[in-house]
Amino acid sequence: MLNRIDLRGSDTDPRRLLPRARLDVSVAVERIRPLVEAVREHGYPAIREASERFDGVAPEQLRVPAEAIAAAEGTLDPAVRAALLESIARARRVHDDQRRTDHVTRVVSGGTVTERWVPVDRVGLYVPGGLAMYPSTVVMNVVPAQAAGVRSLVVASPPQQDNGGLPDARVLAACALLGVDEVYAVGGAQAVAMLAYGSTTDADGATRCAPVDMITGPGNIWVTAAKRLLRGVVGIDAEAGPTEIAILADDTADPAHVAADLVSQAEHDPLAASVLVTPSAALADAVDRELTRQVAATKHVERVTTALTGEQSGIVLVDDLEAGLRVVDAYAAEHLEIQTADAREWALRVRNAGAVFVGAWSPVSLGDYCAGSNHVLPTGGCARHSSGLSVQSFLRGIHLVEYTEEALREVAGHVVTLATVEDLPAHGQAVQARFPGEALS
Ligand code: NAD
Repeated sequence: MLNRIDLRGSDTDPRRLLPRARLDVSVAVERIRPLVEAVREHGYPAIREASERFDGVAPEQLRVPAEAIAAAEGTLDPAVRAALLESIARARRVHDDQRRTDHVTRVVSGGTVTERWVPVDRVGLYVPGGLAMYPSTVVMNVVPAQAAGVRSLVVASPPQQDNGGLPDARVLAACALLGVDEVYAVGGAQAVAMLAYGSTTDADGATRCAPVDMITGPGNIWVTAAKRLLRGVVGIDAEAGPTEIAILADDTADPAHVAADLVSQAEHDPLAASVLVTPSAALADAVDRELTRQVAATKHVERVTTALTGEQSGIVLVDDLEAGLRVVDAYAAEHLEIQTADAREWALRVRNAGAVFVGAWSPVSLGDYCAGSNHVLPTGGCARHSSGLSVQSFLRGIHLVEYTEEALREVAGHVVTLATVEDLPAHGQAVQARFPGEALS
C-alpha cells in the first residue's frame, strides 16, 4: 500500500530521496496572501467572506459569548470531561516543571548580568477544526502558556455549521475547563490574520479583537502558511502543519502495532505523512499487509488512503539501524517512534525529531492526548531547528546589565578599542564621557 524507497546499498544524502509533500508551505503562502491583506484592511467583512467560502458558515459576531462557553461545559459528556481533566493534569505536571527562574551571572566584581524570564503579554492560540475537532489542542496550547504566566490568552477555532457557527462544543468546553474566556469563531488563514493585526469582529465594527504579540498552535497547510507569512508581525511558534509520523523499526516490532500507528496519524489530514524506516524487508511486507487490512476497517478510510498512498508517505528500506538512524535524522519527523530492540539506546542518539516515542508501549496517540508531553510539534523538517510547544515558547529572556563605576572603568579601554576598530567612535565616547580626562586602558 505504501510507496517503497530502497536506500539499501546507497550512500547518497537521504534528505533528497525521502518522501515529502510537493504542495509545500511556500506555495500556500502565495495563495493566502490576498486573504491576509484583506483581513488587515477590512477586518470582519473579509473574515466573513472567507468563513462562508471555506467553513460554509459565518457568524454575525466572531467573539463567542461567555454563556455559550459555559453551556458547552455544562453539556460535556462525563467520560470526555474526565479524560480532558486527566490530560490537563498530566500536561500541567510536565509543563510546570519547565518553568524557568531568573539567573544572575557575576561577570566580575561589581558587574552582573541577570537573565529575567518574562512571559509574552498577549497570545493567540489556534485550535484546528476542519476535518477533525481538537479539544486536546486547547489543552496543549493553554497549559504551557498559563504555566509561563501569559496574562492574556485568546483562542481562535473555526465556526462549525452543526454548532450554529460556534466552534466545536468540546473545544469550547475545554476552554471553560482551563478558564479561557476570550474565544473567537474563526479559522484558517483569516484567524491568523485577525490575531496578528487585530480586527473588527462584527458587521457594525462595534466589537474588536485586539492584536496579539504571538500566535501558537497547529493547523493545516493554510494555517501554517499564514503563520509563516506573519512571522515578524507577531511571534510564531514552530511551524506545526499537517502531521507526520516516522517509525524506525526492526523485526522485533509488531507489524500490527506499527501499521496501527501509521494509520493513526494518517487520519488527521490527506496531507499527513506516515513513514516506516526499517532494515527488515520482512517487517515491511508484514506492515503493508496489515495496512491493507486495517485501512479497510478504519472510519476515515478515504482520508487515510489518500495520506498513505500520497508521495509524502512510504516505506524506506535501509541496510541497518545505523543507516535508519541517519535517515530519520535527515527526515526530522514531527513524531518519531522507535520500535526496535534496545529502543531507548537508539532514541537517545536521535538528533532531529519533534518528539520521540520509545518502545512498544509509547504510541504517538498517547502523546496526542495523555502522556503529559506537548502535541504541538514542528513539521516539514522544522524539527532540525525548532522545538515543540513548551513553557519556554512563551518566555522572553531579558538581560539586566548592572555595572558599578569601578567595574566599568576596569573594562572601558577594551570598549573604546572595539568601538574604534568598528569605526563607531561615538560608542567609545559614550564611555569616555563618564571618565573625563582619564586615559582608559
Ligand atoms: P484547520 O483548522 O487547521 O483548518 C481549517 C481551516 O482551513 C478552515 O477554517 C478554512 O478557513 C481553512 N481552509 C480550508 N480550505 C482552504 C483553502 N482551500 N484555502 C484557504 N483556507 C482553507 O483544521 P484541519 O483542516 O482539520 O487541519 C488540522 C491540521 O492540524 C491537520 O493537518 C493536522 O495534521 C494538524 N495538526 C498538527 C499538529 C502538530 O503539532 N503539528 C497537531 C494537531 C493537528
